[in-house]
Amino acid sequence: MYRSFAEIRQALSEGKASVRAIVENYLAQVARQNGQLNAFLQTYDEEALTRAQQIDQKIDAGNAGRLAGMVVGLKDVICYQNHPLQAASKILTGFHSQFSATVVARLLAEDAIILGRQNCDEFAMGSSSENSAFGPVRNAADPSRVPGGSSGGSAVAVQAYMCTASLGTDTGGSVRQPASFCGLVGVKPTYGRLSRHGLLAYASSFDCIGTLTHTVEDAALLLEIMAGADQFDSTASTHPVSSYSIEVHKAPTPGKIAYIRETIESEGISPEVKTNILRVIEILRREGFKVEPVDFPLLPYVLPTYYILTTAEASTNLARYDGVRYGYRSPRATDLESMYKLTRSEAFGKEVQRRILLGTFVLSASYYDAYFTKAQRVRRLIMEQTQAILAQYDFILSPTSPTTAFKIGELSDNPLQMYLADIFSVQANVVGIPAVSIPCGTDATGLPIGVQIMAGLFEEAKMLAFARFLMEKCAN
Ligand code: GLN
Repeated sequence: MYRSFAEIRQALSEGKASVRAIVENYLAQVARQNGQLNAFLQTYDEEALTRAQQIDQKIDAGNAGRLAGMVVGLKDVICYQNHPLQAASKILTGFHSQFSATVVARLLAEDAIILGRQNCDEFAMGSSSENSAFGPVRNAADPSRVPGGSSGGSAVAVQAYMCTASLGTDTGGSVRQPASFCGLVGVKPTYGRLSRHGLLAYASSFDCIGTLTHTVEDAALLLEIMAGADQFDSTASTHPVSSYSIEVHKAPTPGKIAYIRETIESEGISPEVKTNILRVIEILRREGFKVEPVDFPLLPYVLPTYYILTTAEASTNLARYDGVRYGYRSPRATDLESMYKLTRSEAFGKEVQRRILLGTFVLSASYYDAYFTKAQRVRRLIMEQTQAILAQYDFILSPTSPTTAFKIGELSDNPLQMYLADIFSVQANVVGIPAVSIPCGTDATGLPIGVQIMAGLFEEAKMLAFARFLMEKCAN
C-alpha cells in the first residue's frame, strides 16, 4: 500500500513495482472495500490496466511524464472524455462526457491514470455525501459515520488506499471538510487558479477544483501540473504558476498567524476539536510564530451570504437539466410543460430541489434587491475584512469543521444543522482565497480532526510549505 506518490516513484525507480502492479493493487482494494464504503461509482479497470502497461513501456524507454504511477479518481462532476458523468444524480442517467476537463487533460498529459468516477452529494450540494442517487458514502475510519461532503467518495477512496489522489470540488468546503473527516490533506486553491472547463457547475463564482491526498507534497505537485491559464475558461487566472512541488519543501519563516476568536470560542464547536486547535496554536508558538486572536464581526453573515448566492447561481446553472438536452426524461410526460415538471421532480433529489427553489426565490423580481443584491454587498464586505486581516498576518488558522464525522442519518432531517458543518470553510470561497485542511490528531474515538489554514490570494506556495511544516509538527 502506497501512501504517497513519492513512495510510488521510489518503488518504480528501484524496480520494486510496475505501474501495472500498482493499478492492480488499487483495483484489489476497490474490490475488497468499495461494496461497503461506496466511494467509487465506477472504475475503468481494463482501460486503466492497458494504460498502465503503456506507461511502464514509457518508463523503460525513459520518456514517461511526471505523473507516471499516479492513480487518480475523479469526483462525479468532472468530465473525462467518453466516460459516464452523472453528478451522482438520476437526472444525468446515461450521459457521457464529450471532452475532458482541462485539469484532467493536463494530468493525462503527464501520464496519470484515471481509475474511475467517485460518489458525492448530488451536484456537490451537501456536507455528508448522503445526498447521492447511489446511496451514502461511508467513512473508512468508522463505516457508521459520514465521510463529509460533498466530495466524500473522493476522500474515502484515498483514505482507504483505493487510489493515490482524488480531484474533488470545493464550493463551500467540499474538499476540506471531507479531508478533515477522513484524515487527509484537502486543498482548495485560489478561485481561478484551476480552470473550471469541464466541471459541472454548481455555483460558478465559488466553484473550485481541489485535491485530496495523504500528503501536502502530492497536492503541491498536482496543483502545479493542473494550474494556469486556459483558453476554455476566461475566469482561469493568468497569474504565474510557481513551482509548488519545490517550494513546498521550504521551511517557513516564523511569522504572524491570526485565528478568528469566534471560531474557537463559539458554543457549537466540540470540546475535542477546541482542545486540538489550542494544541496546534501552542505548537506554533513554541516554533516561534506569533499567534493572535482577531475579531471578525461578520462571521455570522458568512453562511447566509454563501447560501443566498450559491442557491441563486445553482438555480440558473441547473436550469439546463430539462429532460430535453441531457440524460433522464420522465416517461409519464404528456406535453412539454409536464415533461419539464415531471423530469425535474422525479430526477432531482430533495436537497437539489430545495436549493433550486431557494435560488429562484432570491432571484425573483420582488426579492432580488432584498436578498441577492444585499448578499453581494455583504460578500464584498467579507472580502475586504478578510483581506485586511491577511494584510497583517500570514495566515488565518481555524478548525476545518466544528465537529468530527457525524453518524449517517444524524443530520439528514436538519438542513440548517447540516449547513453549519461548513461554518468555517465557506469564508475562503466567499472571498476567493486559497485554503487547506490538514490532519492534526484524532478525538477520543479515533476520528480524525482537521485544521484549516487560509492564505492570501495566489499564495498557494507559501500556504503549502506552511501546511507541510505544521502537519509534520502535529504528527510528532
Ligand atoms: N456543503 C456545502 C454546500 O452544501 C459546500 C458544498 C461544496 O463545497 N460543493 O453547499
